[in-house]
Amino acid sequence: MLYSEQVFLVAGLSRSGISASEFLISRGAKVFIYDDVDDMNVRASVERLESIGCVNVKREELAEKAQRCDVLVLSPGIPVDHPLPVSFKRAGKHIIGEAELGAINLRCPCVAVTGTNGKTTTVSLLECIFKAAGKKGIACGNVGKPLTSCLRELGEDGVAIAEISSFQLETLYSLRPHVALILNVTEDHLNRHYNMENYIYLKSRLLKNLAESEFAVLNYDDPIVRGFQEKTRARVVWFSMRERVEGAYIQDNSFCWYGERLFSVDEMTLDGDHNHANALAAIAAARLMGIGNDPIRAALRGFRGVKHRIERVGEVNGITFIDDSKATNVDSAIKAIGSVKGESILLLGGQDKGYSYEPLFEAIKSSDVVHAVIYGENAFRILNAALKTGYSAFTLCRPFDLAVRVAYLLAEKGQNVLLSPASASFDAFQSYEERGKRFCELMETLRRESQSYVKAEVTGGEDE
Ligand code: ADP
Repeated sequence: MLYSEQVFLVAGLSRSGISASEFLISRGAKVFIYDDVDDMNVRASVERLESIGCVNVKREELAEKAQRCDVLVLSPGIPVDHPLPVSFKRAGKHIIGEAELGAINLRCPCVAVTGTNGKTTTVSLLECIFKAAGKKGIACGNVGKPLTSCLRELGEDGVAIAEISSFQLETLYSLRPHVALILNVTEDHLNRHYNMENYIYLKSRLLKNLAESEFAVLNYDDPIVRGFQEKTRARVVWFSMRERVEGAYIQDNSFCWYGERLFSVDEMTLDGDHNHANALAAIAAARLMGIGNDPIRAALRGFRGVKHRIERVGEVNGITFIDDSKATNVDSAIKAIGSVKGESILLLGGQDKGYSYEPLFEAIKSSDVVHAVIYGENAFRILNAALKTGYSAFTLCRPFDLAVRVAYLLAEKGQNVLLSPASASFDAFQSYEERGKRFCELMETLRRESQSYVKAEVTGGEDE
């Protein structure tokens, strides 16, 4: 791509849009920038990008400026059927994502990870394994570190451990990983991709460019992912929690790799079957990248998980608070309720993504969840699923803050308050991180309040 001869429009100024703009400017391109939103964060990004030579486009100028651009760099947050990309498509112009810019300019091998759930955990685990092996492996992409922002650091001797989402796959064409890993495909983002066929197709696109000499690491236990073996020329390496497959699997409570026993599953700090599956996938990718058993073992022993993923954040009066705010779809919440130990009050709700919540209530009925507190914009859709499945141990309480309080009041000593919402956060928050943070703040408020009650009781309190 001849950057200096092309005019780019970068639409959406979140982390990846900023990184794409900086990259393009550094290559001598003319860069227009645009964002629909006009808040403090966007204004700060605009200021920063204008200072390096980008030209900000106002809403009323967009149509005219877009006509002058050759390439649209679209944020993963903006769907490809938004009027802006549609106008570029109609004009026969290129539409790419920031990840595509990164892929075109990548000079080192890449391990790419996609799937509905477990991507961040797996790339983080792989980064730890590379570190333990003394190799430069950098977790990047959707994990919050745009690919274009680490090209220099990666150089030719690093390994890009790239988390790739379905949103990114809409505008990613050139990535050719040495190892492509697909963890699972379950219902998610149907409000964006319309139907499962489209979503499955997008996930399979990670395998599109692989040659015979490369590897597709696929989940044997997931029927959709298993079917992807038909879609690739690469050598398929399986991972499975249930079967002794050609690849990574568990046998007699040990992680195994092609007939070799590696080490006991109990040595891994993080528990939950879903995390053991993530570990198997990471083991397969690491072995294919030439990493031996010792660093893998050391990394799995030391890895304590990622923030907002089934994270035990504290205790108030014997009630444990668990933040799983990143469980933004049904399957991830099912995995959480299946792996959290002890009885839980479950907090469910947020922004709807167009799928059915009935499987969630079927799972809740046979779990240690004793009560569900349903909140948020989609509360009535969730409630409807509860009623349809005959589940009645729920309370409806739409504001998030109040719902957390109610969950705490319902919990008894020894039980958990588990935030695993099965929904996006955007009805009330900027992100799942912000929702998780608010959950922790509320826990601290409840702690303070309960301490002041105790104090009041000890001192006799105030007379009324
Ligand atoms: P992603 O990056 O794909 O969103 P994360 O690693 O951030 O995945 O995990 C998100 C949530 O999904 C976690 O909070 C956990 O509840 C659940 N989860 C993690 N790994 C898996 C898996 N392999 N299968 C299903 N659910 C999972």
